[in-house]
Amino acid sequence: MHPTDRSRSTADTDGGAASHAEIDLRGDEPAARCPYCGRPFRERRLEALHRGFDHPDRLSDRDRAAFERAYLEERTEIRRYRLLALGAVILCYFCFLFVYALVL
Ligand SMILES: [Zn+2]
Repeated sequence: MHPTDRSRSTADTDGGAASHAEIDLRGDEPAARCPYCGRPFRERRLEALHRGFDHPDRLSDRDRAAFERAYLEERTEIRRYRLLALGAVILCYFCFLFVYALVL
């Protein structure tokens, strides 16, 4: 257990969130904490995503709107990451192909 981990005591009390106990808060208080399971988050956006995925039946309309907004932002970032990863793989492929063609 990390010395700055403060989430274990709250995660163990609810019984179901023990797998979320290893969160490094780096000595700061979390920006947000889930009101249903007590899990800490560094950003409010991440807490909104957690509530939408782990507690979907308990969301109010405002929480649902925050979840959808955070989900769309996350989806855009993931799409950008996938394009960059695909570009890196293609670049590596052609680099190795040219090296192979020059060596033989
Ligand atoms: Zn929660």
